[in-house]
Formats: sequence, C-alpha cells, structure tokens
Amino acid sequence: MKGILFVLSGPSGTGKGTVCKELLNREKDLFLSVSATTRECREGEVEGETYYYVLRDEFERMIENGQMLEYAIYNGNYYGTPKKAVEDILNKGRDVLLEIEPQGALRVKQLFPEAVLIFLVPPSMAELKNRLLTRGRESEEEILDRIATAKWELEQADKYTTIIGNDDFDKCVTDVINYLNAKREEKQIITNLINEEI
Ligand code: 5GP
Repeated sequence: MKGILFVLSGPSGTGKGTVCKELLNREKDLFLSVSATTRECREGEVEGETYYYVLRDEFERMIENGQMLEYAIYNGNYYGTPKKAVEDILNKGRDVLLEIEPQGALRVKQLFPEAVLIFLVPPSMAELKNRLLTRGRESEEEILDRIATAKWELEQADKYTTIIGNDDFDKCVTDVINYLNAKREEKQIITNLINEEI
C-alpha cells in the first residue's frame, strides 16, 4: 500500500517551518520533500536542504516538463514540489510531508484527494504580524503583503482535513503528531481488513 501524503500548510508566520523541523526530529519515519523556488537563498539556508534554488527559466521549464507535483507564485516568486521524489517515496509505502502554502495545498487536494491536509493557524492576526516582524526575515513591505495574503489563506481553512492552532509550540507539535498517528492507525485498520483471509 502507498504511503500517506501529509501536507502542513497555513499562513506565513504561523510557524510551519519550526513545527515541521520538530516533527522530523520526533518522527523518524517521515520524508520531507525539498521544494524548488526562485526566491533568493537567505543567510543560513542550504541548497538542497532548505530549497533547491533555481532561476525563473529553469522553474518554468520544470513546469512545462511536468516535473512539478504542484507549484504556486507566492509574493512574486515561484515555489513548487518536485514530483519524482515524492512519488517514489509514496510508492515505497513511506509517508511524505509537504510544507507548503495554501494555493499549493489545495492543488495537492485536487490531485490526491486522499492526502491529509493540516492547516496551522496563529492565535491572532496581531500575533502573526508580531512573529513576522520579530523573525526579521522580510522587509516591512513584504510583511504587509504576507498579512494581506494570510486573509485569503484563512478563508480556505475549511477545505482542509483538520485545523490546528499554534499558540503553544509544544502543544501544537504534539497535536500534529497525534493527528498523523491517528491517520496512520486508520490506514492500518483498513489495510488489515483488506488483507484478512477468511
Ligand atoms: P519562504 O519564502 O518563507 O521560505 O516561503 C514562502 C511560502 O512558500 C511559505 O508559506 C512556504 O510554506 C511556501 N512554500 C515553500 N515551498 C513550497 C512549495 O513547494 N509549494 C508551495 N505551493 N508553497 C511552498
């Protein structure tokens, strides 16, 4: 049986990246897909680990060649999930995690209706703005763009399999892990029934 495709999504600043890192520390049997992007590489980021950094032409060629599982333009840059690695892992029966923004998450839902979509939400919009400001990665203009985008993204929340709040970080990670494991158990129950000899 194929692995489960988990998608962790939500507005920028909700803490997807940090939650994702901690998930991978605690859950060894989860493969994180490394995305491609046309945005510039920031200090501390690593090619092939944080992202594959590609030029616009190259990204567009990958789209044309059908190499992207999904992609989105987010605040002027392309971001996308390379298809082959994800499919290979799923076909081996292992679970894959995508950490992507909501346009891409909804595209994944169209392509893989069985995917498990987790929407992370901040405790408040004021806190979201505060997190974006304090992490200091984006310019003030970029932060305002991200907050405007967040409003549309929040309107998509009811299309997800579940919504989990990221107010208390440890609780949030535990909630996500419990949810992943509940989904794995559901799959196991069905697999056992299908394989049962009578
Ligand atoms: P950042 O520039 O902060 O690294 O990422 C901006 C947004 O793009 C984040 O919400 C992040 O989750 C999202 N993102 C990263 N990789 C992908 C991807 O492969 N596809 C999509 N659709 N979004 C992505």
